[in-house]
Amino acid sequence: MTGPNTRIVHAGRNSDWTHGRSGKRGVVNTPIYRASTVLFESLAELDAANAAPDRGLNYGARGTPSQWALEEALTELDPGAAGTRLYPTGLAALAIALMTVADSGDHVLITDSAYDPTRLFADRVLKRMGIAVTYYDPLIGAGIEALVQPNTRAILLESPGSLTFEVQDVPAIVAVAKARGLATILDNTWATPLLLPSMALGIDLSMQALTKYVGGHADVLVGSVSASPAWWPRLSETTRRFGQYVSPDDCALCLRGLRTMALRLRQHEANALEVAGWLQTHPAVERVIHPALPGDPGYALWKRDFKGASGLFAFTLKQGTRADTGALIDDLAHFGIGFSWGGFESLVLPVEPNRVRTATQFEGGALIRVHIGLEDPADLIADLDAGLARYTAQF
Ligand SMILES: *Cc1c(COP(=O)(O)O)cnc(C)c1O
Repeated sequence: MTGPNTRIVHAGRNSDWTHGRSGKRGVVNTPIYRASTVLFESLAELDAANAAPDRGLNYGARGTPSQWALEEALTELDPGAAGTRLYPTGLAALAIALMTVADSGDHVLITDSAYDPTRLFADRVLKRMGIAVTYYDPLIGAGIEALVQPNTRAILLESPGSLTFEVQDVPAIVAVAKARGLATILDNTWATPLLLPSMALGIDLSMQALTKYVGGHADVLVGSVSASPAWWPRLSETTRRFGQYVSPDDCALCLRGLRTMALRLRQHEANALEVAGWLQTHPAVERVIHPALPGDPGYALWKRDFKGASGLFAFTLKQGTRADTGALIDDLAHFGIGFSWGGFESLVLPVEPNRVRTATQFEGGALIRVHIGLEDPADLIADLDAGLARYTAQF
């Protein structure tokens, strides 16, 4: 198999869709096919299309080469995946992944560090459908076995966790899941399959918010789920039945982002580590939470399982509360205040994990999450230095 950088350049570029007779002919990128109706030559052709609805053009909602090129590219990037489906948001991808594995009367285990809207979907929709949910300590590892009930069907992981960046022992949890016949769903948005090849670790359904690093430019919302061979037919079927669809224009934006993702991730990692290392030396900072820093509680597992780090991490402050953090963030020149991340630009957000947690509590001072973009790290450091001076001047 070729290296990941080569794969990311070639993935999903099928010459059938680029008007070429081989990979070297035709246009480089799959064209944008805007389509609802697909026209057939004859009754025989209509019936043939209906007999094999997942092969070739059928109806716009079943996709065109614009969607298939992105799906195939994502499948190729997570070796071991049998296929990928797309969703209008990352949250929709998580919702369909959960609907794929659980039925009424079942029970699912969800990490307490999960992305907040994942929890809200579980609490407000899954429970209404008679699917029970238990939140577990993200650091539970093989101990998750004790939480498995007779009706448990699936375990949802997110590593590192949203806001607090706990690294989960994915192989230990997967081993329990396989022994007990449970499906595993991983929210792999932070690492992408480039930094955490999830299928190789035995994950069944690997989800990404393409909104983040694949899109990479803060201008598109798309989600994906890649499935193991065992789960692919059911994922695909559930996705179809819920009428999930992503526009060809948004797919083209994701494919454009994807081609530079490996390069961008390396720069996000380097810039983030430079800023994180500097924050560790600042007297106002209590703790920097970044799994790629030696000394971080997640460092050993991160080093064992991941091929790199991305640009999102957090730090806590020694003094003050969330209400005081305006002095730090309001006048930053290079950090935007806003949701989402994974774009080329730096972002900052005060976060409160304990507002939603139930199985564990986060210990520490006011928590600030940063996404480190592609700016010069020296400028970001100078900006944060001035912000932290404004912050400490309040006390
Ligand atoms: C942003 C995010 C999502 C959801 O993505 P959207 O496209 O915004 O719905 C899911 N999981 C994680 C970890 C995220 O950061």
